Amino acid sequence: MESKEFISSKGRIFRAMMGLEIHLQIKTQRKLFSPGPSSIFGAEPNSCVSFVDAGFPGMLPTLNEGCVKKAIMMGLGLGGMINPVSVMERKHYFYRDLPDGYQRSQNRYPLVENGKYVLKSGKEIRIQRLHIEQDAGKSIYDEKTGTCLVDLNRAGVGLMEIVSEPDFETPDEVVEYVKSIRNLARYLDTSDGDMEKGQLRVDANISVSLPGDPAGRRVELKNMNSVRFLNQALVYEIQRQIECIEADEMVHQETRSFDPVKGTTARLRLKENSDDYRYFPDPDMPDLRLSEEYILAIAQTMPELPSQKKDRFIRDLALSEYDASILSDCYEVSVFFDQCVGSLKKPEPQSYKWVANWIVGSLFALLPDKEAIGSCPITPGNLAQLIHCLQEGSLSSPLAKEVFQLMWDTGKDPLHIMQERGLVQVLDLDTIQGWIDEVLQDSPQQLQQYLGGKEKLLTYFVGQTMKKAQGKANPSIIQELLLKTFEEKKKSV
Ligand code: MN
Repeated sequence: MESKEFISSKGRIFRAMMGLEIHLQIKTQRKLFSPGPSSIFGAEPNSCVSFVDAGFPGMLPTLNEGCVKKAIMMGLGLGGMINPVSVMERKHYFYRDLPDGYQRSQNRYPLVENGKYVLKSGKEIRIQRLHIEQDAGKSIYDEKTGTCLVDLNRAGVGLMEIVSEPDFETPDEVVEYVKSIRNLARYLDTSDGDMEKGQLRVDANISVSLPGDPAGRRVELKNMNSVRFLNQALVYEIQRQIECIEADEMVHQETRSFDPVKGTTARLRLKENSDDYRYFPDPDMPDLRLSEEYILAIAQTMPELPSQKKDRFIRDLALSEYDASILSDCYEVSVFFDQCVGSLKKPEPQSYKWVANWIVGSLFALLPDKEAIGSCPITPGNLAQLIHCLQEGSLSSPLAKEVFQLMWDTGKDPLHIMQERGLVQVLDLDTIQGWIDEVLQDSPQQLQQYLGGKEKLLTYFVGQTMKKAQGKANPSIIQELLLKTFEEKKKSV
């Protein structure tokens, strides 16, 4: 387990405390308050903007129920309490990509409260709240003209903000949590959580202190959009704060950003007090009132959660805790595994274990990215067929490995590959016996030694016969025939 102690250059032991705010883009066709399209990635600037998003005078917002439903699902998935009444408020600040001069968000009465997430270690992370809010636009600096351009495509896109308590003690815990939240969103289809597309952004609060001391000043890291950078930034920031304290310097309450090139963080702005956004309930939005039946109906249509899927893999498919965990950790992998199991000709625990082994052992070794498993050259149906060939003995395991590689290279199904390459396993016992006889003739010395009691040589003979068979025979059949041949030879001596 990762250590929760951080050691300074003076050898003193510090502890860290971190809390997260995750912004997840809600997966819907339309924006949170307007009919503008929300699939904005790669679109022409300002091509997905309605009058509402551009803050035109007199435009009124209409709440997109689809966004609310998905946020409720996410809240339920995090074990949270869905508030029967929540309130949209205006959060005021001035920025050029915020045409209204305020962001519609939820402050005092969020949609969801009191969730939790349990880390693999068993430690519980408290989730304070999940609320819905609209995204702002994007400012782009044009270096050629020295001007700033504004793209409002993102303005008004629905976000869920998930706020945790400062329960994290190591960067690894943070990384596990962020990945799990993203995985949960994919299971529930509430967000794709694609960080490269800005669909998942993380703000982290970090403070360090000596054990027993009160918590140190909080530094906020803004808008981390890669798990790797987030990890690097946290590792750097913890050590920076510790050395600050050791040098008798003050850790300022401030907002910092991470520079991926230098691998360091730098001050964006000092935060003397907490920001005053002059929140007040949006007069254009009535309170969001949800009946118990409404919430219950959503709860009943919830897809399987990652933890439920893992439990099912263990309970119904007799997978080990380890396999079930790896196969449910990534939504795309879990779907692939389920489909492969569904295509098996012999659905039984032994076969499920084989599917798990082939995915975790062989397929992961070839896949650059687990999430891309659904579009890899090997389909779940083809993998099931390969496993069937192994079970019925028409493929030995070395041959199956060869076929597997060819499936990856060509995208073809195993039966075609076996036919094309003449890789069908020889089951004809006379042929195999013929090879055995040749091998014994070629190795008279070893044969004498074996008959004299050196039984370890059995593997040598199996190997030699496999070589003669060019891998097309089943090693256990060879072994059986060899033992029988030796028995006969012993008798005839
Ligand atoms: Mn926010």
